[in-house]
Amino acid sequence: MSPSSSSHPLVPYGWDADWETAFAPYADQGLVAGRVVRVDRGLCDVVTPGGTVRADTEFVVPRDPMKVVCTGDWAAVDPEGASPRYVRAYLPRRTAFVRSTSSKRSDGQILAANVDHAVVAVSLAVELDLGRAERFLALAWESGAQPVVVLSKADLVPDPATLAHLVQDVGTAAPGVPVLTVSALHGDGLDVLRALIGTGTAVLLGQSGAGKSTLANALVGADVMDVRAARDVDGKGRHTTTTRNLLPLTGGGVLIDTPGLRGVGLYDAESGVGQVFSEIEELAARCRFHDCSHESEPGCAVAAAVALGELPVRRLESYRKLVRENQWIVAKTDARLRAEIRKDWKRKGAEGRAAMQAKRGRWA
Ligand code: GDP
Ligand code: ZN
Repeated sequence: MSPSSSSHPLVPYGWDADWETAFAPYADQGLVAGRVVRVDRGLCDVVTPGGTVRADTEFVVPRDPMKVVCTGDWAAVDPEGASPRYVRAYLPRRTAFVRSTSSKRSDGQILAANVDHAVVAVSLAVELDLGRAERFLALAWESGAQPVVVLSKADLVPDPATLAHLVQDVGTAAPGVPVLTVSALHGDGLDVLRALIGTGTAVLLGQSGAGKSTLANALVGADVMDVRAARDVDGKGRHTTTTRNLLPLTGGGVLIDTPGLRGVGLYDAESGVGQVFSEIEELAARCRFHDCSHESEPGCAVAAAVALGELPVRRLESYRKLVRENQWIVAKTDARLRAEIRKDWKRKGAEGRAAMQAKRGRWA
């Protein structure tokens, strides 16, 4: 990074030499660079070198919901003085978090862009649910971010041997992923986590109650997130955090914490699932049949590893479950796409008929 860019006011928000290069054509047009900190109803807050500005996203409203401006995007905004100030474009995303939306609409929804680290919080206050951790990890890998597992509330497991055992257990479910223990209450392990996510942008994933808000407060160094106990006072379990969704951390780096990321689901996460279960995919490559289902085929390397005790049955079952779930989501999406295409044809047909009638009218 050049000396000039390291003192750039957007560096605390994740600005780097590559973003600067990508932005150059927009700078030439007199547009201002900024990072989107939140989006609501066609407007967004963008942090720019001149402060946070409210910008209109109407200029970039594609039909594809994945292409709308979202938190974490690097935007090119109209210069000061323009009214309204439009987001004219955003830079190509390095990574993206997407969720499958409610059952009625199965298309994806973009939740956060340009995330480098996905912190999966797993609470040590309750029994470990490795399947759930694997699901969050699939999502993390799929986004393009590097996952890290944080076993939270480590103060509740005072015995070091037990703690080491739990770390090892989680490690088998998370190949290629660092597993840390953290107590936000005592501050233990926070430095290691800060060092890991100190460059770039992080998000917190994990089940409700896993300690994400507490962790966010500890990392940001201020009470920016309501902790669950307070949040659930209204009994509706509503997320009432009203603070900004993108925050610089005291130890460097940026945290994105949008309400939507909390209940995130799989969305076309085939490659993410593959990465969570990389050892199974490696075994599968050695099965005799390339389309082996690892059920009862001869020459199945996966079944052999299970028989030898090298692959836990739980892992294989969890893998199957996530693959099935993912296929179901993809099929749902395809059905929706098919319906949309049909609608488009109908519309075109109607337009064609109308044009035909207009023509006939004219010639009559
Ligand atoms: P979230 O739903 O994932 O955001 O979880 P919260 O941050 O709201 O935490 C859920 C509960 O766990 C709260 O009652 C916290 O006080 C508690 N908690 C969070 N971190 C720790 C910790 O490090 N140690 C202990 N003992 N409790 C914690
Ligand atoms: Zn097989």
